[in-house]
Amino acid sequence: MAQSYNFNAGPARLPAEVLEQVREELLDLNGTGLSVLEISHRSKVYETIHGETRQLLRELLDIPSDCEVLFLQGGASTQFAMVPLNLLVEGRTAAYVLSGTWSVKARMEADKVGDVVVAASSEADKFRNVPDVRGLSVRPDAAYVHMTTNETIAGTQFREFPDPGGVPLVADMSSDLLSRTVDMSRFDLVYAGAQKNAGPSGVTIVIVRNDLLRGIPRTVPDILNYRVHAEHGSLFHTPPVFSIYIVNLVLKWIRRNGGVVGIERNNRRKAELLYRTVDESGGFYEGLAGRDSRSMMNVTFRTPDAERDELFVKESERHGFVGLKGHRDAGHLRASIYNAVGLEDCLALTAFMRSFLQRYG
Ligand SMILES: *Cc1c(COP(=O)(O)O)cnc(C)c1O
Repeated sequence: MAQSYNFNAGPARLPAEVLEQVREELLDLNGTGLSVLEISHRSKVYETIHGETRQLLRELLDIPSDCEVLFLQGGASTQFAMVPLNLLVEGRTAAYVLSGTWSVKARMEADKVGDVVVAASSEADKFRNVPDVRGLSVRPDAAYVHMTTNETIAGTQFREFPDPGGVPLVADMSSDLLSRTVDMSRFDLVYAGAQKNAGPSGVTIVIVRNDLLRGIPRTVPDILNYRVHAEHGSLFHTPPVFSIYIVNLVLKWIRRNGGVVGIERNNRRKAELLYRTVDESGGFYEGLAGRDSRSMMNVTFRTPDAERDELFVKESERHGFVGLKGHRDAGHLRASIYNAVGLEDCLALTAFMRSFLQRYG
């Protein structure tokens, strides 16, 4: 098999042992003689997977008992709309923290539903840093505060979270859920598309505090209503069974690797390795994100000019590296180092970066 180093931004790399197990079980799941792709979502076999996956998330993330864990569809982008449709009731205001492209998109959807104010923003800084949210002040009657904990394009990540004093805190954790330990009791609603750290695309994990479900307006259609999904245990309609099954295997892989604590330790070493290579390049490589805002998931950098950026991508591809071209809007280089990317991949990238610098620096 050809060796490739997968630094894709999402869908991202999955653990090889998970893919092997999927292949192994694809035609015959647990001796049923059937594939997970062709069984009823109401069957005992599937119900076990569904319930176990929810339980694994509860354990790995230490989710408070007054929260529901939902499996929805439509990606994080559907949550940009669902959050305001469910929570931004008439006469209230939603406060958005803007730290990059994803949070701006979330805010634009909320704008279509109701009144939005910007609680903090680093737009003036081209989103190279996350805004300071320590002293964040929002009106006490705000419907919620929304933030995006990791932004994949500039490669920034919050280390601290606001304490909006009684106002519900909502977070898009699509690109860092399960990558580091986070005190989930600080949040009232968290959502994440699975395709970065938790599995394939097709399923969105939503964690929502029970008491938020009570205020959802009656006018919200069932399919977009958190309460309806919670009441049906995420079986209101056919769930994305294959995606949830793979999330189940990925969560067991995380558990085998020391849980989120073990995963975080590895992620930290990976990120440190790459940032050190950038910082020790004598200015040849320049990191895009401000140092205190650097993401542990998306390492963004560039060479002194666009020609060498392009050459870097071309040469890296010849050496088996995949996905190092930055986002099409930003035009830099980016290594996305989600959970399943190994330390050895980062060591290989470091070696390539050093040799590229020697040849073109
Ligand atoms: C990847 C990503 C998204 C987009 O998710 P979709 O599932 O494609 O809608 C949204 N927010 C963040 C923070 C992301 O990293």
